[in-house]
Amino acid sequence: MKKFFGFFVLLSALAFARCDQHAQDLIHAYPNHLKTCRNNQIIWKDGAKMVYDDGKPESEGKILKHADIEDMFTHSYTAERYSHPRFDPGRYRNERFFRHMYGNSASEVRHHLRTIPWFGRQVRVTHVNNVDGHLRAVERDLKQLLKRHPEYRKYLVPTGGTFTWRKIASTHRLSVHSFGAAIDIHVKYSAYWRWSKGMKYQNQIPIPIVKIFEKHGFIWGGKWRHFDTMHFEYRPELLGSRVGSLPREHRNPSHSVRDKKTASRKTPLPGNPSGAYRVIAGDTLYGIAQKLDVNFHKLQKINGIVDPSKIRIGQTLKVPR
Ligand SMILES: [Zn+2]
Repeated sequence: MKKFFGFFVLLSALAFARCDQHAQDLIHAYPNHLKTCRNNQIIWKDGAKMVYDDGKPESEGKILKHADIEDMFTHSYTAERYSHPRFDPGRYRNERFFRHMYGNSASEVRHHLRTIPWFGRQVRVTHVNNVDGHLRAVERDLKQLLKRHPEYRKYLVPTGGTFTWRKIASTHRLSVHSFGAAIDIHVKYSAYWRWSKGMKYQNQIPIPIVKIFEKHGFIWGGKWRHFDTMHFEYRPELLGSRVGSLPREHRNPSHSVRDKKTASRKTPLPGNPSGAYRVIAGDTLYGIAQKLDVNFHKLQKINGIVDPSKIRIGQTLKVPR
């Protein structure tokens, strides 16, 4: 009996001590938040720990409600085709994970929202994970596409919306719109599984538009069996390093500080090259944390900053190691 018990413990340890390639994709996708995966736990830079794989096989009905972090990778987004999807890649989300990253309440998320231009209008999205920067890049690339295909404009404006703290229709689960990390393009040309008879798949959105979003870390709801073709959400972990479709900063975040543009904006002080940072125009405390790849809360604490919006140009900040 004892022997059997020991064997069982060993088996479960083997079963749960898993930090697989998907866990690595996750850590690479969110470098400002996640530190590592160890003994089946995702370890955050702020010290939080979350179970990666709870070991429970979930039925399709339950997985939506009870997805653990590992379940988010159940279906491969990149393997799915652009037409007649059979799976729901990215639709299973561990809500606790996203709440911890983007904010646990509407007011916490609101605190991180930034206004950015969207084809002559404005939208508000989170600056956590530089989502605002990525969406600006999407707009820039889409404008290039519109030069060749002006007829595509109607799909993009007006948007169906970005941030709203809300549950997904007929569920108790929060939509990614609640975190300010999703955008709906024009509702008029979208197809939604709930409104479609017999869930018959339809799509009008041109695929070149989708590819631009994907290039910048957004997945498309049009690749879901439960389709929502106007919907895009920031989920770089699903676009993975193996696809090669993401800009370098997604794939290997530690290199981003060395990028030309970033390097020129990093202004170390003479005599103290690594331990200090001088605030320049356009900086936000969160943006600085992202640029320097340091923990936002540590940066705030070490500098005794009460209100992160009150940093001034020329101010010298200590940089945590
Ligand atoms: Zn949406």
